Amino acid sequence: ENLPYFVEGPVVKGFGRGSKELGIPTANFPEDVVRKIPESLPCGVYYGWACVDSGPVLPMVMSVGWNPYYHNTVKTMETHILHDFKQDFYGSILKVILIGYIRPMEDYSSLDALIEAINSDIAIAKKELQSPEMLAFQSNNFFLGDL
Ligand code: ADP
Ligand code: MG
Repeated sequence: ENLPYFVEGPVVKGFGRGSKELGIPTANFPEDVVRKIPESLPCGVYYGWACVDSGPVLPMVMSVGWNPYYHNTVKTMETHILHDFKQDFYGSILKVILIGYIRPMEDYSSLDALIEAINSDIAIAKKELQSPEMLAFQSNNFFLGDL
């Protein structure tokens, strides 16, 4: 078990795969941050907590996968925060704790199937994060400001 796993880094432009158009924007970490994650951390969808700059600690779902752009030699970490942000936060510092594993990555036959899977991930995250052990991570010192 690699969990909980703590990550911190700036939010960079992703590959414009249209996540935002689907209503599911994903904040991307730069390559050097992703390279540091252990080999043993399985690809798939995780849930946990996220914080942008010195903002509130919010629920998130994250996909860890391979980037087709680099012929699947480079991993990607894409965080969808369960919060309605009024504007983009490229360049901000994103802190994330991955606490639980939801499912492996899958190839979906349609966009609808993908969106349905993500909505199910979000429902799982919301439910799981309510337990006392999970809530404890929300106030973890990791999130306390160094800003
Ligand atoms: P990109 O390909 O650049 O990652 P996306 O369509 O995935 O583009 O949008 C991601 C960006 O949207 C983030 O970098 C962030 O600035 C912004 N954003 C706004 N709301 C959210 C949210 N709830 N979760 C994650 N990112 C968000
Ligand atoms: Mg993205």
